[in-house]
Amino acid sequence: MSAEPTDSADPCCAAPLPVLGRDVTVPLVTGGEVTYAALDYAASAPALQRVWDDVAAYAPYYGSVHRGAGYLSQLSTDLFENARKTVAEFLGCREGDQVVFTRSTTDSLNLLAAALPADCQVFVFETEHHASLLPWRDARVTYLDAPRTHDEAVHTLERALADRDPYGPALVCVTGASNVTGELWPVRELAAAAHAHGARIVLDAAQLAPHHPVDVRDLDVDWIAFSGHKLYAPFGSGVLAGRADWLQKAEPYLAGGGASRKVARRADGGVDVEWHDTAARHEAGSPNVIGAYSIASACKALDEAGFDALVARERQLIATVTEGLAAVPQVRVLSLFGDDAPRVGVISFVVDGWNSSHFAAALSAEYGIGVRDGLFCAHPLVRTLLGGAPDEPGECGAPEAAPGERSLNAIRVSFGAGT
Ligand code: PLP
Repeated sequence: MSAEPTDSADPCCAAPLPVLGRDVTVPLVTGGEVTYAALDYAASAPALQRVWDDVAAYAPYYGSVHRGAGYLSQLSTDLFENARKTVAEFLGCREGDQVVFTRSTTDSLNLLAAALPADCQVFVFETEHHASLLPWRDARVTYLDAPRTHDEAVHTLERALADRDPYGPALVCVTGASNVTGELWPVRELAAAAHAHGARIVLDAAQLAPHHPVDVRDLDVDWIAFSGHKLYAPFGSGVLAGRADWLQKAEPYLAGGGASRKVARRADGGVDVEWHDTAARHEAGSPNVIGAYSIASACKALDEAGFDALVARERQLIATVTEGLAAVPQVRVLSLFGDDAPRVGVISFVVDGWNSSHFAAALSAEYGIGVRDGLFCAHPLVRTLLGGAPDEPGECGAPEAAPGERSLNAIRVSFGAGT
């Protein structure tokens, strides 16, 4: 069992899921040590104990996949392919959808960018994480201005799509939950707008999947991308799941063994290749079997714990943190859609008169609390939220403004099912 038993049916009473590192102690500059408080889940969440146990149980049976004739190879191949099925179920995939194992969300979105049909137009809000903002730069990209309400987001997209070349392919890329504000985006409505204009949509679920169910059919998105290390699995694995057609027609993301079905030398001296038309087409090289297996284990653990209980519990944590921050007059919580907008457990703020980097360092050194400071790989969004222009120059970790001046970066606390 992944969730600890509770005495009550009230999901708000559910206990946190057991994660690694919960009892780790860290030294304080003030002397002594304290139990570490991990509040940087949005960057990488601690692995679930259940995932670690599953990986440890599998480790002695570790073997090469697909072409190995030995028993352990066959077992590993089964585990790898079953992991694909588990992820497909977790995402509610449609008949014919493909689940491609990648290295991360960044890798997944770059893979899709490499598979775009010729002349594809891409529409993306400037508020995106750089992983969903940047991969499309070789295509015809339209960057959309930051909306201030869900309705504005939908209307902005509709207006842009109405102006597009109606005969060519088009893709919308949108995040499900912001890695800066934690705010949810109106994914269903954006998907409906995209489809109404003949465009497709990919959901960057890096921050949504660890907190809410992500179902391709329910959200009606064409692809979903997410990372294992934010979904309580270890580093190094990710997923791109969804429509097979564009993926099957594209050149393999990586050329090499595993992606090719048949390779033959031509009479003219060259080489002919037949690529697979399954997910293997984009998984050349020896796959990360442990990574795929641990993602599948995390998906099962979250499904067994039940998202209703996880969401209800997280809502309480969000209320506790936001009420605590609201009680400090110097604190300003960052928000695109307004303070009451629904969000996941990701909250960024600035503290008047404080350098955000110093503040975050002090939380670690003096209290053993691990948070993050900076621009969170979403520079245009953070600049907009801090009152600057999205194109204002600056870098992650840039020096802070003097007290009283506008902050140049922010502090982020993030938490989840293990908190
Ligand atoms: N998308 C969002 C919304 C993110 O928050 C992140 C990482 O923070 C990414 C994509 C990229 O994830 P990864 O670094 O695992 O590729």
